[in-house]
Amino acid sequence: MSRVDYDAVVVGGGAIGAAAALALSQAGQRVALIELNEPRAWSREVPDLRVFALAADSIELLRSLGAWDRIATSRATAYRRMQVWDISAPDFIEFDADKFGRRELGYIVENALIQDALWEQVRASNIRVLLGNRVVSLDGEMVQLEDGTLLRTSHVIAADGAQSSIRSMMGVEVSGKDYSQKGLVAYIDHTASNQATCWQRFVPSGPIAFLPVGDKRSSIVWTLPTEECDRLLAVDDEAFLRELSNAFDGPVGTLTAVSKRAAFPLRHQIASTFLSGNVMFIGDAAHVVHPLAGQGVNLGFRDVIALRDLYASRRVSPASLAKWARVRKSESTVAAQSFTALNSLFSNEDVLPVLIRGKGLGLVNRIPGASLWFWKKAAGLS
Ligand SMILES: Cc1cc2nc3c(=O)[nH]c(=O)nc-3n(C[C@H](O)[C@H](O)[C@H](O)COP(=O)(O)OP(=O)(O)OC[C@H]3O[C@@H](n4cnc5c(N)ncnc54)[C@H](O)[C@@H]3O)c2cc1C
Repeated sequence: MSRVDYDAVVVGGGAIGAAAALALSQAGQRVALIELNEPRAWSREVPDLRVFALAADSIELLRSLGAWDRIATSRATAYRRMQVWDISAPDFIEFDADKFGRRELGYIVENALIQDALWEQVRASNIRVLLGNRVVSLDGEMVQLEDGTLLRTSHVIAADGAQSSIRSMMGVEVSGKDYSQKGLVAYIDHTASNQATCWQRFVPSGPIAFLPVGDKRSSIVWTLPTEECDRLLAVDDEAFLRELSNAFDGPVGTLTAVSKRAAFPLRHQIASTFLSGNVMFIGDAAHVVHPLAGQGVNLGFRDVIALRDLYASRRVSPASLAKWARVRKSESTVAAQSFTALNSLFSNEDVLPVLIRGKGLGLVNRIPGASLWFWKKAAGLS
């Protein structure tokens, strides 16, 4: 009889935790998944305001987990181009699927749909699911839940989000900073086609992204200083559309309607280690990055891809896990710092940043190698 009941206990069944549980189960591991809340079903009529620009490698992962067909046939909008420009410069960065001989760069998908599609697969698998429960103590192989259940496991995978209680239990610190900004999200209808393009304009208050979710419908993430964001949440729809139209000034025609609006505080946060004892940290429990490059969830899926490959290789050992943690922390730190640097460079009206960024975007676009490297990373193609 084996000493442990599970090879891995995953805590948190958001997109990243559910994907990790499935990936490890597919790799032949015995897995339990603990989630505090009953995952809510996706609704076609009430779109989730939080949408993700899924990169190619994230889509490939979702496909391998059996979740992609459900997503693709429910609601996923392909984007073929990304275009980024700055208020102070005529130049822009452009990235086109044609450059890679691809039909699309990725897809825009609602968070609730990804989670629902993954949970459909979780329920059909032999993963043990413990809903409405939380971990109250961790002691080596022993995991104790609030209702008294005891689980014996080789590893714990913490995917319990940015405020991870497992991270606190393990005494793992985080570093980073609060941006004093919020991301305002909403759906916008407009008169011209968005041309299957993710548009992002940098203005001094922060970047504004328009992500295609229909030909004449986009999902926006508008980064704003906290107070300004709260003001814009409170104004009526007409005033909101007017202010958004002035700030974005993009090629989607007249903005005609806005959905309900919501906002999320933005911060950059990295756990001091992604492995503590037998506990691994993935997704937002390990790293929270600025949404300006749409990389948050993609970084989390990359944690899962690397873990899946490690378990599939059957070379799981303290040394290989430590290497996994080092590599993932390094990639996440580079990403978080780049987005912080870009955010401070562009959310700024001082003369020097304005000069630098004016040249910057054009420069990146003119040096084919640099442009390619930047976008290949963002699009999960390297
Ligand atoms: C405004 C905004 C826009 C964004 N836009 C993008 C984008 O365009 N592209 C992108 O890639 N990313 C984006 N992100 C980031 C993205 O939302 C996160 O990276 C992603 O949701 C993280 O997923 P996760 O599964 O790690 O965590 P979460 O989604 O937070 O899931 C954590 C899960 O753990 C559960 N849980 C918590 N505590 C416990 C516990 N004690 N026990 C059991 N379960 C627990 C929760 O109920 C939840 O289900 C954006 C973020 C913001 C704020």
